[in-house]
Amino acid sequence: MSEGERETIAARAGLGRPSGDVDAGIDLIAPPSLGSVRAYADLSSLQAGMETREAYRRYGSQSVALLEEALAQLETPGGGEQPLARATSSGQAALLTALTLVVTGSRKRVVVVRPCYGSTDALVAGPLGNLGVQLTGVDLPLPGSEADGEHAQRVEHVMGEDVAAVVAEVITNPLVGVVDIPAIAAVAHRHRAALIVDATFATPFLFRPFEHGADVVFHSLTKHLSGHSDVLGGVVLARADHPAGNWLDGFTRLLGCGLAPFDAWLALRGMRTAALRIERGSANAAALAMFFSAHERVQAVHYPGARGGCDAELAARLLPFGRGPMLSIELRGGYEAADAFLRQLRGVRLAPSLGDVATTVTHPASSSHRSLSREHRAMLGIGDGLVRISTGIEPVAQLQEEFDVALGGTM
Ligand code: PLP
Repeated sequence: MSEGERETIAARAGLGRPSGDVDAGIDLIAPPSLGSVRAYADLSSLQAGMETREAYRRYGSQSVALLEEALAQLETPGGGEQPLARATSSGQAALLTALTLVVTGSRKRVVVVRPCYGSTDALVAGPLGNLGVQLTGVDLPLPGSEADGEHAQRVEHVMGEDVAAVVAEVITNPLVGVVDIPAIAAVAHRHRAALIVDATFATPFLFRPFEHGADVVFHSLTKHLSGHSDVLGGVVLARADHPAGNWLDGFTRLLGCGLAPFDAWLALRGMRTAALRIERGSANAAALAMFFSAHERVQAVHYPGARGGCDAELAARLLPFGRGPMLSIELRGGYEAADAFLRQLRGVRLAPSLGDVATTVTHPASSSHRSLSREHRAMLGIGDGLVRISTGIEPVAQLQEEFDVALGGTM
């Protein structure tokens, strides 16, 4: 499938197709059906209804099915089979669902590649830990450091016959390092473990994990794919020929963490413009990375490929369609400098999320990574002066001007 085809799939996601026998036409966009259950005339129609996903909202709904179909198409590997997709009530629910598909009685260990979203390893250590699942964290070398490139070796070091899955992000949160997913897939598969990829930062427009060895993929739909900060949602996708694919539909029904129809409807609406938003956001992020690297108050700029060496090689190899709308900057002066900078911002909002159509910033040490100790954050390169930026579609000159004014206030 070509890149243009993906943009077309997204732009037309959820459009109704009139059939010849409907003279009055149909809604171009199907309205969300908000009922939680359907009524039936008799037992045979009830039994037939129970075979569908529309009978009871925990099983699915039309809006959810349309969203899932579009996401499954977007994640279909070039020349490969379409994966199965189920939308969930959040990105966390997608990860939870993904893990239930692969953890077994004899394989109860989950390897989480860090840095990653702070609640990823917390979910494994906390609620799943109570059920006997064990967490092994693997800290990747800092992007651009001498040890960078040791991704597969570090994962290999902790593998064993009890490992059910390796969980990794393609573009890491918050340092936007590029992870060698193909090499980690090879290690996971050698040990007969599944590779679960969180592709939230990359989106299917920039990276398709199934093309690089993933068995299960998940996204937080809350972010770039929906794009308007009005949806909390997720999606989990499994390769159709992987055992995880056999469990996906049944387990999502049983877990009860499916996406609500109105949220699916909003997510579909956002997704239709996602390709354009991501293209513009990626161009803005690239320009801002250059702008910040020339600024004396900025100690370091984190942007995929910008740190040279292995980071540059991985970004060129794995992200040929764009490096995404995310970057981070480390301000000289630590917490106080970050606080002063954030206070000075006039239009760009400070918000503990990402992926909005407008540019937002956050402070990972106070939000996404606050559950880690300060020492652990420091080891992962997440300093108190680190500010993560999610670029939106505003003209870049305006963003630069605003950031420039705010940087003037850091001393
Ligand atoms: N994965 C990444 C990379 C994230 O940044 C987040 C949330 O910030 C999640 C997963 C979890 O998503 P949600 O908040 O929709 O549960």
